[in-house]
Amino acid sequence: MSSPKPVRRPLVAGNWKMNLDHVAAIRLVQDLALRLRSLEHDALDVAVFPPFTDLRSVEGILGADQLPVLLGAQHCSAFDEGAYTGEISLSMLVRLSVTMVLVGHSERRQLFTMTDEQVAATARAVLARELTPVICVGETGPERDEGSTEARLESQVLAALEGVAPGREAGIVIAYEPIWAIGTGVAATPDDAQVACEQIRSLVIAQRGEIGREMRILYGGSAKPENAAELVSLPDVDGLLVGGASLDAEAFAAIVAATAGCYGRAAGKS
Ligand code: PEP
Repeated sequence: MSSPKPVRRPLVAGNWKMNLDHVAAIRLVQDLALRLRSLEHDALDVAVFPPFTDLRSVEGILGADQLPVLLGAQHCSAFDEGAYTGEISLSMLVRLSVTMVLVGHSERRQLFTMTDEQVAATARAVLARELTPVICVGETGPERDEGSTEARLESQVLAALEGVAPGREAGIVIAYEPIWAIGTGVAATPDDAQVACEQIRSLVIAQRGEIGREMRILYGGSAKPENAAELVSLPDVDGLLVGGASLDAEAFAAIVAATAGCYGRAAGKS
């Protein structure tokens, strides 16, 4: 007898990177709130990932207005507390109502030498606090050109899952972000995005079993209102991780609207 099809709740996540001080963040969230209010987006999760110094202000607005927007952090320490100058702990984030954390964004990996081992340790720490890690993986332009995308994704995904207790995979989000597409205005083609996301899902299923069908996989890299609907319609793409376009309330709301339009109010992909 076949098991019932799992329904994956789509996620549209905005990574603000190192942009917007807390005053500008308040303005953006207020603008976004007005735009999202008129949208039917209860069938999907919407999340924003502001810089650490904005979290308190953004939390205040989301809470006061009871906005259905999840709060995420762009990074965190894998350590609980102590002599780690400059780091931010998960306890601190939990106190600010953060429920999601980006782990191993390519900018952390490339510019701040975050290793696969650190990505895995951070993902485990995030899961241990019952938060959602959004683990970023993706190949560079040269890796794509030499045909090693598949190998790169395999090594990153398997390394990130190292030590994750069986059964916890459904609480993980993986964001496929080809590095050559980030911030360039050139997104992956729908065919390429689907191939990569399907490969990631197949890998997880091969390693961890059918629970891999419940794991959400996002596409990220120059997502914008014009390409959002096509990307989120792909069978293995469960939403988008949006950088530049998330700094513009109108564009981000349009991406949410496009995603909501693809999924309808109650449907999910299986
Ligand atoms: C990102 O940095 O995660 C990202 C997807 O950026 P952009 O949308 O600007 O390409």
